[in-house]
Amino acid sequence: MERKKERNYFHQLSKLRRRPLAVAGPCSAETREQVLDTARQLKELQVDIFRAGVWKPRSKPGTFEGVGTEGMKWLQEVRQTYGLPVATEVAKPHHIETALRHNIDVLWIGARTTVNPFDVQELAEALRGTHVPVMVKNPVNPDLSLWAGAIERLWAAGVQDVAAIHRGFSTYEPTQYRNVPLWQIPIQLKGLYPHLPVVVDPSHIGGKPDLILPISQKGLDLDFEGVMIETHPNPTAALSDAEQQITPAALGEILEKLQVRSLPDAAFISRTEQLRQKIDRADREIIEALARRMRLVEKIGEDKKENNIAVLQPDRWKSIFETRKEWARQMQVNPEFAAELYELIHLESIRVQTEIVEADLTKNLTAEQ
Ligand code: PEP
Ligand code: MN
Repeated sequence: MERKKERNYFHQLSKLRRRPLAVAGPCSAETREQVLDTARQLKELQVDIFRAGVWKPRSKPGTFEGVGTEGMKWLQEVRQTYGLPVATEVAKPHHIETALRHNIDVLWIGARTTVNPFDVQELAEALRGTHVPVMVKNPVNPDLSLWAGAIERLWAAGVQDVAAIHRGFSTYEPTQYRNVPLWQIPIQLKGLYPHLPVVVDPSHIGGKPDLILPISQKGLDLDFEGVMIETHPNPTAALSDAEQQITPAALGEILEKLQVRSLPDAAFISRTEQLRQKIDRADREIIEALARRMRLVEKIGEDKKENNIAVLQPDRWKSIFETRKEWARQMQVNPEFAAELYELIHLESIRVQTEIVEADLTKNLTAEQ
């Protein structure tokens, strides 16, 4: 089952150094020289875990699919020469066997594997009885339960040191991202498992070097445990993900610039405690106002029913959206937020009134059955 945060491998690594966990290394191991050269430079930056993929899931056949088992020897050399823990992606049980035979310290499950519970279960079985820490990337599609399910399958197989990697979600919409972050999904994951370390992968979210710093900072501001950043000595010549990899020197600058938020002190805690009590009271007032509003909606619903009037009155709603947005603007509340909130309130009001208007209909239906 889930290990307490303080005892989790990933948390311990970052806590020892009092800074976020830094996982870095090339998308793919390509040659012995490339791997060792990158590792030497990353060691100087005090990176915590060296990453490199050797089995690469690629959309199209015929593209570079990784160097395979040969790359394991290079990772072993990194471990021996620089004392850096090494990590690689596993997608099949035989990958796990091979990686463990080569003393790989940390494994990760890729986004294309997390989507498939059959595959995840097979990996979980192969991990049973081992003590290797495992990081689980979110599935390519924005599905919280698939991500949570993969993590739970590992816990159920006895894997205690689990971390999640947020690498964004694929989308058809043109956006500035390669994979849209949809931050609410990792936030919900943290809500489900408060002890689970979460690492942000700005390389796969952003898909370009410029976005790595802001996405990493956003992750840290959301109390993520660390970052996973693809690093290559000569990014433009990389055999995979060339557009998003950065040099070790660029990584060094980014790690320098990242603002690490401090732990709250007693004065902060007591200040926020007072404000939170006020927030609790404000929330109570919001719910009371909603309750008052719903009772009025019900009254109108009864009247509509008696007089055979349609539930939806588009003109009324149009004016509600306009006025509420304007009121929000006047009171320094984001009008778009107010509009979204009123979409929800609108839906709920229609649901309540439809129930009232259709009450006899449902009664008749049940009587006929
Ligand atoms: C990777 O980390 O290189 C990788 C293949 O990532 P993802 O599974 O997030 O696409
Ligand atoms: Mn990659």
